[in-house]
Amino acid sequence: MDLLRGALRNYAWGSHTAIAEFTGRLSPTAHPEAELWLGANAGDPAWLESEGGERSLLDTITADPEGQLGAVTRERFGDALPFLAKVLAADEPLSLQAHPSAAQAAEGFAREDRLGIPVSAPTRNYRDRSHKPELIVALTPFEALAGFRPVARSVDLLRALAVPELDPFVNLLAGQADADGLRALFTTWITAPQADLDALVPLVLDGAVDYLRSGLTEFVKEAKTTLQLGELYPGDAGVLASMLLNRIDLQPGEGIYLPAGNLHAYVHGMGFEVMANSDNVLRGGLTPKHVDVPELLRVLDFTPTDETAIKPRTFTDGIELVYETPASEFAVSVVRLDGRELGHQTDAPARHDGPQVLLCTEGSMQVHAKTSTITLGRGAAAWVAADDGPIRLVAERPATLFRATVGI
Ligand SMILES: [Zn+2]
Repeated sequence: MDLLRGALRNYAWGSHTAIAEFTGRLSPTAHPEAELWLGANAGDPAWLESEGGERSLLDTITADPEGQLGAVTRERFGDALPFLAKVLAADEPLSLQAHPSAAQAAEGFAREDRLGIPVSAPTRNYRDRSHKPELIVALTPFEALAGFRPVARSVDLLRALAVPELDPFVNLLAGQADADGLRALFTTWITAPQADLDALVPLVLDGAVDYLRSGLTEFVKEAKTTLQLGELYPGDAGVLASMLLNRIDLQPGEGIYLPAGNLHAYVHGMGFEVMANSDNVLRGGLTPKHVDVPELLRVLDFTPTDETAIKPRTFTDGIELVYETPASEFAVSVVRLDGRELGHQTDAPARHDGPQVLLCTEGSMQVHAKTSTITLGRGAAAWVAADDGPIRLVAERPATLFRATVGI
């Protein structure tokens, strides 16, 4: 077991304060800090810190896959860590996006190879053959858009904005109040000529302003998010599309799970995110990056869903709360030590023999593995090799530790 120094990613939508304050560095930072990668991604691996210096987690796994990953994980996923854990901090919204299923990713990767599109090209959609299910658990209040909301409620929202120019679209959706209607409307908007968008989006933003001034309360957060997106991306079809998605507020500890085909955008806040180790993203707008509309339409799931279906269920296993997801590449849980758990060692449940990434988010915890003991304060992470588990935990004061492991 070693301390794990994450790889810091600077993206424009990141925060000048959140990750710096979380990890105890000077804030505000010169550049926006968006993500801290706690994994063995070839593009930017995390680093193991020991007395002898720093070593990349990727190199460490490559040199000793059996000890680091364990026999079962190697057999299932080969000699690579199948998940990537991150701390993510969004000051501004991320792009509207969806991820392919495993079958779509394999087919898309082969197709783009046949077309001769280099894997590193900005126009490449499929950079690997893997799907990318992801789970984010809020560390601060967290705002997100995810999944097409039940149609009747979207119709109510669009009518509440009272924009006559929206009427034909609302009528289209009301007349076909299901996944097919959502597909038709989304396709109409995302393929609309720019001149039409340049005319319609400002009217929708005016409608949102009027709604917020009206004193009506039902769709306040939806109207505010529409305005925020419209100010950042005027004339972007994603502003319209976002009005069809569930606008979700997460409290710390609450999560959302995004399976293949779920259209989503993180809007604001800091979270612990764990995903299958893949870079396959299809964007639908709200970004200066490559948007491939036909490919996005091919993978999107238009089935209406509400936020209770997007928030994973949890179950308790000893001292641990486990987020239930169908992903096989990863599992996420959180240990909270408090009350009578304080002051003595407690076993962290061992559900399998794979490796573990630990992240302390509150207080301070001592972690005992087979060969070593380390203390993790808030914002510190550790890597526990497969052959170094299971672990025991002890805290003197209330403390919280997130854990990412391989799924069952
Ligand atoms: Zn995503």
